[in-house]
Amino acid sequence: MGGYDEIQEEEMKGIHSMTLAERIIAKTKVNENGCRLWQESLLKDGYALIRYKGKKITVHRAAWMAFKGPIPDGMSVLHSCDIRHCTAEEHLFLGTYADNSKDAVTKGRQKNLFPSGDLHPNRIKKLKKLQRLTRLRELG
Ligand SMILES: [Zn+2]
Repeated sequence: MGGYDEIQEEEMKGIHSMTLAERIIAKTKVNENGCRLWQESLLKDGYALIRYKGKKITVHRAAWMAFKGPIPDGMSVLHSCDIRHCTAEEHLFLGTYADNSKDAVTKGRQKNLFPSGDLHPNRIKKLKKLQRLTRLRELG
């Protein structure tokens, strides 16, 4: 009873009782475009990860689950703002991998924001690979 152990236990409880939504909000900042941007480290491809139920998931998927609800099997959570570490639920929508790359093409991947690189051949290759993988998965 008492002392240090008790305090530590309280702190632990505090962390565990934080909901996913609270954890996301604690680690993000809203910018002038209404994007709720992740402030911690990002992956090379611009996504960010958060630990959830012992697994690491991308923060935008976590945001969808926290603010919108479960993600249907096989669906991706996509960004209308094209910022991969944005967790603003108003900027998220569900789609397939195919939608994701189609979307990227119709938008020209925000040429003004990313003057070079985003339509890099490697990226296109990667998207095509993703599409192929999705198709394979659908075929079972
Ligand atoms: Zn956004």
